[in-house]
Amino acid sequence: MALINENFLKLKAGYLFPEIGRRVTAFQQENTEKAARLIRCGIGDVTEALPAACIKAMHEGVDELADRASFKGYGPEQGYAFLREAISANQYDGLNISADEIFISDGSKCDTGNILDIFGKGNRIAITDPVYPVYVDTNVMAGNTGDANESGAYAGLVYLTCDASNSFVAAPPAEKVDIVYLCFPNNPTGAVATRDQLTAWVNYALANDTLILFDSAYEAFVQDSNVPRSIYEIPGAHQCAIEFRSFSKHGGFTGVRCAYTVIPKALMGSTVSGEKVSLHQLWSRRHSTKFNGASYPVQKAAAALFTPEGKEQVAALIHHYMGNASLLRDACKAAGLPVFGGENAPYVWVGCPAGKTSWEMFDLMLHEAQVVITPGSGFGAAGEGWFRISAFNSRANVEEVCRRIGQLFQA
Ligand SMILES: *Cc1c(COP(=O)(O)O)cnc(C)c1O
Repeated sequence: MALINENFLKLKAGYLFPEIGRRVTAFQQENTEKAARLIRCGIGDVTEALPAACIKAMHEGVDELADRASFKGYGPEQGYAFLREAISANQYDGLNISADEIFISDGSKCDTGNILDIFGKGNRIAITDPVYPVYVDTNVMAGNTGDANESGAYAGLVYLTCDASNSFVAAPPAEKVDIVYLCFPNNPTGAVATRDQLTAWVNYALANDTLILFDSAYEAFVQDSNVPRSIYEIPGAHQCAIEFRSFSKHGGFTGVRCAYTVIPKALMGSTVSGEKVSLHQLWSRRHSTKFNGASYPVQKAAAALFTPEGKEQVAALIHHYMGNASLLRDACKAAGLPVFGGENAPYVWVGCPAGKTSWEMFDLMLHEAQVVITPGSGFGAAGEGWFRISAFNSRANVEEVCRRIGQLFQA
């Protein structure tokens, strides 16, 4: 009989979003009338239509495939040069990232998970708490952890607690780690790291031979010009960091699927015996062996985000979502709840009323306001007592959510 990867058995059952789905479905079945009022601010998925420039480019791509003379089969595994060059010029202008240091893929979720293929066993790995669950679960699957304890923390991982006292931005730990996952602007907390805070991380990484896995899926939402959008804005980062970016939130591509990973050629890993090896080379080998490139019309659509019209349309989308975030922040503050995030990120991170757990707050919002939020404890033990509201929605829905929050917490 086929032996299984027993690491999967360590994964906690009832992943966050299935449990949310289960509770929402149960509510809908028991409350058919109220269910019609349901507004979902839970899963971090975009809601607005694709930018017109992308739709046009995607149609053109399809037309090219429809004609034998312009037909394209397999493309380059690393992605078409036209897209990698557009990313290098537009996203990394002045940051010394060349087109051949960029790998196009069909998503950052896969990239942040797949990257573990190129690392060996025995790395000391740090993650923040709360955290995007993909970083943790993929390490569990890869056998980089022991079992989870009562509160869901896995043996072997170094947890960096983020809470109100550090404004949900972890400082580098006292101990040495080999790999650390950082995500700014953050999902779920909406926190951003300042230039000084990221500089402290890069300096720590250089001093301790630590690799930073930097997820900047939400960089397009940064409003404050002092907040870095890329880890490569920090001197030294080319020697210690991989950056993951996605068009999912940038261009509303969650259903289209396109992302990229940046691995500078200067970045090195080590064999057990101390020999330095290029991570770029390893990832290139991995990518071209296990991946055959993102779809051509999709890469055309992604490149269209960098045209003048595309940039304007993206700016309008971001403006829309950030307007929502601002309304949600104000409504939660007016309700007397502690509020973080929502200023450079599409997520507002809100403290539960005194004495309520995250799931109690989830049930309260579902049953009393018919608003679906995400319980903070689903992102880690330190998320207990907090919840996330997503700003991905129509303006009308957000205004209604704000009204309901006002009603729920009046007096
Ligand atoms: C949405 C999101 C991504 C993007 O994932 P895709 O697979 O590209 O859609 C990456 N990281 C975080 C933290 C996210 O929230």
